[in-house]
Amino acid sequence: MSIPPPNIVDFEIKETLLCGPGPCNLWPSVREALTKPIISPLCDEYFKALDDIRTGIKYVFQTKSNLVLAISGSGHSGMETVITNLVGPEETLLIANRGIWDERAYNVATRYGIKIIVHRIAHNTTFTLEELERQIEVYRPTALFITHGDSSTGTVQKLEGLGDICHKYGTLLLVDTVVSLGGVPFFMDAWGVDAVYSSTQKALSGPAGISPVAFSARAAEKIKNSKHKTPFYFDITLLAEQWNCYGNTRYYHHTLSPPLVWALRECLRQLSIETLEKSWERHAKTTRHFHERVQRLPLEFFVPNPEHRLATVTTLALPKGYNYDDVIKYVEEKHKITIFPGRGPTADKSLRIGIMGVNSTGAVADALADALADALQALVKSSL
Ligand SMILES: *Cc1c(COP(=O)(O)O)cnc(C)c1O
Repeated sequence: MSIPPPNIVDFEIKETLLCGPGPCNLWPSVREALTKPIISPLCDEYFKALDDIRTGIKYVFQTKSNLVLAISGSGHSGMETVITNLVGPEETLLIANRGIWDERAYNVATRYGIKIIVHRIAHNTTFTLEELERQIEVYRPTALFITHGDSSTGTVQKLEGLGDICHKYGTLLLVDTVVSLGGVPFFMDAWGVDAVYSSTQKALSGPAGISPVAFSARAAEKIKNSKHKTPFYFDITLLAEQWNCYGNTRYYHHTLSPPLVWALRECLRQLSIETLEKSWERHAKTTRHFHERVQRLPLEFFVPNPEHRLATVTTLALPKGYNYDDVIKYVEEKHKITIFPGRGPTADKSLRIGIMGVNSTGAVADALADALADALQALVKSSL
């Protein structure tokens, strides 16, 4: 044989507190769920698990819609599903751009021949509904893409009322809730959202790889009447049959990963037991406490207006003279906490600190604030 077997050596993996913009540590029960048996995709337990997931997704998105299911893939797969099923080639997508996820939406949409209009604002702020309406009124796009919580900038976008504005002009509202779902209030039906996707690896405290999506009745109608071809793997019409969205279909589209099915089911079960209200409250309280502690340090919020700050991801600028990578390395090595550098608009301008899911506790907020205080002191001393 020309290629000999490789010597793949096992190694120990050190576990840290994951306090970046994702991934997040797992709920203990989710870790357990990942080791549940692999089952046949034709047995009752499997169908029951999918049904449980669909009920859980309806709850976390707060929707009565039947077109809800999970896509096999990370958050990006949800993005590609939502865009490609609702906007055909030559149709127009308006992208409200304030961070890297909106750039991603642009990259996805260009590959499918979709016409794109980009509306940009400063990265440390959010959109007013009035400016979005002006854009929609001028361009009359098929859909508006907007990110609810932006993990590249640490902002949360107000969405209440935006659905009505979109619908006035025949526009669909598409929303990314990857880093906000479970951590920040979101109401799909009440806010008139037509398509939404999320991910397990952020505030749901699960592993990446399976992503909840939901479509409104208006979106379902658009899909039904669409002539354009969607990518096979993300074809929501076929997936709706696989997930039995309308009753009595059990179609084989692709093999879902059983560990991820069990994990997502457990994430949703965990959130249902805690309740959304309690989870939102816990995230708000923890981050409020963290921000109070941070205010006593020589750090500056990248997002000046407290109302625009996201409860799950905080962006903080270091004082002059400090190096972002040094601080991150120090916090990781001395405190076993992983935080992230900025990305896109926040690159070299900010730290990105995520406190979400299982990690949203006062103890974690204190550990982070202590670690940052220590790093700021130690690194100044060492550079003298
Ligand atoms: C992390 C993130 C994504 C991408 O999710 P993946 O699971 O990495 O594909 C998309 N949108 C937002 C807002 C995110 O924070």
